[in-house]
Amino acid sequence: MVKHSSRIVLSQSALKGNYNFLRKKIGKDIKMASVVKANAYGHGIHQFVPMAEKCGVDCFAVASSHEAEEVIEACSEDSQIIIMGILYEEDIPWAIKNDIQYYVFNYDRLELSNRIAKDLGKKAIIHLEVETGANRTGLPKHDFDKAINYLKEHKDNLQFEGLCTHLGGAETIANKFKIDAQIERFDEFLNRCKEIGHEPNLRHMASSAAAIAFEETRYDMVRIGVSQYGFWPSPDIHYLHLRETDKNVEKGLKRIFTWKTDVMDLRKVDEGEYIGYGTAYQAVQDMTIAVLPLGYSNGYPRALSNKGYVLIKGKKAPVLGLINMNLFMVNITHIPDVEIGDEVVLVGRQKNNVIKVSSFTQQTHLLNAEMLSRLPTAIPRSPGP
Ligand SMILES: *Cc1c(COP(=O)(O)O)cnc(C)c1O
Repeated sequence: MVKHSSRIVLSQSALKGNYNFLRKKIGKDIKMASVVKANAYGHGIHQFVPMAEKCGVDCFAVASSHEAEEVIEACSEDSQIIIMGILYEEDIPWAIKNDIQYYVFNYDRLELSNRIAKDLGKKAIIHLEVETGANRTGLPKHDFDKAINYLKEHKDNLQFEGLCTHLGGAETIANKFKIDAQIERFDEFLNRCKEIGHEPNLRHMASSAAAIAFEETRYDMVRIGVSQYGFWPSPDIHYLHLRETDKNVEKGLKRIFTWKTDVMDLRKVDEGEYIGYGTAYQAVQDMTIAVLPLGYSNGYPRALSNKGYVLIKGKKAPVLGLINMNLFMVNITHIPDVEIGDEVVLVGRQKNNVIKVSSFTQQTHLLNAEMLSRLPTAIPRSPGP
């Protein structure tokens, strides 16, 4: 197989460390669903899922039936899959046949699921999502009693696996008043289940931020996305954590991916010459530059034109001029003995230097998760130590 212009390597030991850290924070009795939507936040579903399973993870949550299909290909027989988002009506039989659990957030979908499950002679495994204040998906309160009664009546076809909701912004402490209101509403729904006499197997609302910072949001299960990949959900959550621990012994979360490419070509540029398109960069002295074989079409943000840097021989090499569609140039005047084919680190460590995703995102105003999830699926990912 021919080589791609860049590659991503994932660290099994960093991942293990992240799960140990999260487990210690969250407690050992709470179920953890690993959120692997958006190609496992850019890490690659096919590579990431088996690595997570090696750490004991056995439940994966995705945003669509299409992503669920990719998880099926990657996961072991015993792992569970939950679709939290789009499941088209015509794909419901497929989901039920494959034991895929799915969110339901309107009443009609319960009746439909019941009919299909009955026809197939197999239970639909349902997480009923309720509206508590985020106002995206979620069954409204006025349909709730009807829905629970329906689930109760048709429990031979409909397994009431979960009652769940999603928080509108637990990443920011200033939103805590919203979160508190959502918890209160969620508890009211749970009380109604008890009164009606039909309760879910699992109650869940927390994603990374809430799971880490707010114990009262953990219930029976948490849905962990960004933090398992080694990123703090937000500065607020990181700060809360630092405040309650001894900073010196702090191990915390570690990025698990490294992104690399190679030097494609080298050249000398005379003082006063322009580098690349237009007049974006003019050489301030005689320079040596390296040409790298990727650009914005390969996930390297164009906003890093004249701003980003990469690592070559453990030293920082600044981007010169504009990021092109599939090339960009860096300054290596200060780095001796660079050769064509030398390894280039775009994100990650090389010798004593490190380039963090945050150095990208501060320049580009992308979210960590946004930058990661935009990494093209064509980039090969492989597991590493
Ligand atoms: C994306 C998502 C999560 C995970 O969120 P993180 O902040 O990445 O942990 C959890 N639940 C739902 C419904 C989501 O869409």
